[in-house]
Amino acid sequence: MNPAEIEIMRQASFASAVGWLFLGGLGVHLVLQVVGQLRNLKWQREQEEMARERLRWEIKAASAQYVQVQQSSAAWNGFRKFKIAQKQFECAGVFSFFLVPHDGKPLPPFKPGQYLTFQLNIPGHDKPVVRCYSISDSPFHTNYYRVTIKREGAPKDKPGVPPGLASSYFVDRLREGDILDVKAPAGHFYLDLAQPQPIVLLSGGVGITPMLSMMNAIIESGSKREVWFFHGARNRLEHIQRSYLMEIAGQYENIHIHICYSQPMAEDVQGRNFQHHGRLTVELLKSLLPSNNFQYFLCGNGAFMQTLTTDLEAWGVPESAIHFEAFGPASVKKKAAPAAAAMVLTGPQPQITFAKSGKVFAWEPAMLNLLDFAREKGIRLDSGCCAGSCGSCLVAIQSGSVDYLKKPDSSVETGSCLTCICRPQGDLVIDA
Ligand SMILES: Cc1cc2nc3c(=O)[nH]c(=O)nc-3n(C[C@H](O)[C@H](O)[C@H](O)COP(=O)(O)OP(=O)(O)OC[C@H]3O[C@@H](n4cnc5c(N)ncnc54)[C@H](O)[C@@H]3O)c2cc1C
Repeated sequence: MNPAEIEIMRQASFASAVGWLFLGGLGVHLVLQVVGQLRNLKWQREQEEMARERLRWEIKAASAQYVQVQQSSAAWNGFRKFKIAQKQFECAGVFSFFLVPHDGKPLPPFKPGQYLTFQLNIPGHDKPVVRCYSISDSPFHTNYYRVTIKREGAPKDKPGVPPGLASSYFVDRLREGDILDVKAPAGHFYLDLAQPQPIVLLSGGVGITPMLSMMNAIIESGSKREVWFFHGARNRLEHIQRSYLMEIAGQYENIHIHICYSQPMAEDVQGRNFQHHGRLTVELLKSLLPSNNFQYFLCGNGAFMQTLTTDLEAWGVPESAIHFEAFGPASVKKKAAPAAAAMVLTGPQPQITFAKSGKVFAWEPAMLNLLDFAREKGIRLDSGCCAGSCGSCLVAIQSGSVDYLKKPDSSVETGSCLTCICRPQGDLVIDA
């Protein structure tokens, strides 16, 4: 080959190498483009699915609101007659009551966590007895209200006193078909179903009732909101809705159920009807929750709520994320501290005179309200909701005046006070 031919060959090889390189580059470019497009398509599909899920949820929320508007005209003032349609055994000393309106008219909706106020005419008692019971099922059952009531025994340190008046009446004496006087659902302890934040429900004993309403509301609305449900009981004998909780555990991706038994029995099987041996503690929450960033709802006895509230705050949970319902007085002292602090009086503490009982005590600033103070001093006052709604703790003021920790839900008779939400402004004489 002459040099010219060699040169042509060299240029041809070079051109061919460049061509192959170009084709290779083009190939890689095309593959990358296809992969990118596929990724884009996948991302778009996920976005569309999320948008569809959001839309489905918005439609559900809108129809729930529509039902709410439709039914809001069904709310009533004062007491309305309800029939016990069904009385259902739950566990030792605990029954559920399914209540239907005696007039057959529609029921107003309620917010999960709210309670009903009952006025009971108990034979042998000259005065009607007023008590509150949380609704223990979701608001999506529009034809009945369910309440779950535990017979209150005598306190351990006072075995001689009679058992709880209203709860014994419900559990031992009321039957299917009986008629009751009931006030419309009320209360400020409820779950806002329109909010998306994940929640932790913490209950002890019969404190499970508002939590069942909240959890069932989330399940039945189809919401994917994250729920951690923790419940403490002694063992299966005192475990309210045990079978139901076992049935739904693991059925929903967003619902995590954890039952703690402090004194399990031989028949109790860990991993089946309960998950943890011991009390429900914040240590347990720390070991299971991905963070402390939840809204917390608590209901149980005084010690349960005081301990958990203190420990949650120590874990860094802001007070605004802790919501609780007290079934009795003096449950969580710390919670009222800011409002109460504003009312702490300087100088000698006011003298509180209980005129009927003939007793006088110096006010204790640590007390949340007059009702708790009276109980602490061994003076029994009537009470119901402990939230300034039901009016059963109303007591006449003979002299002096009070401050309210929160605005009463309805106007208070002049010259009287709702002892569950007030504190003395100075020396006070009340008719109790
Ligand atoms: C908002 C709210 C929701 C509630 N929801 C529920 C619910 O879902 N389920 C539920 O079961 N409960 C619930 N409760 C509690 C309920 O309202 C009653 O407080 C409870 O049933 C006890 O009422 P009782 O009439 O049976 O007891 P009470 O007669 O008021 O007696 C209370 C306790 O005092 C003791 N006692 C009686 N006499 C004396 C005396 N002389 N000295 C000292 N102690 C005495 C009794 O033995 C008893 O242990 C709720 C309370 C509130 C405020």
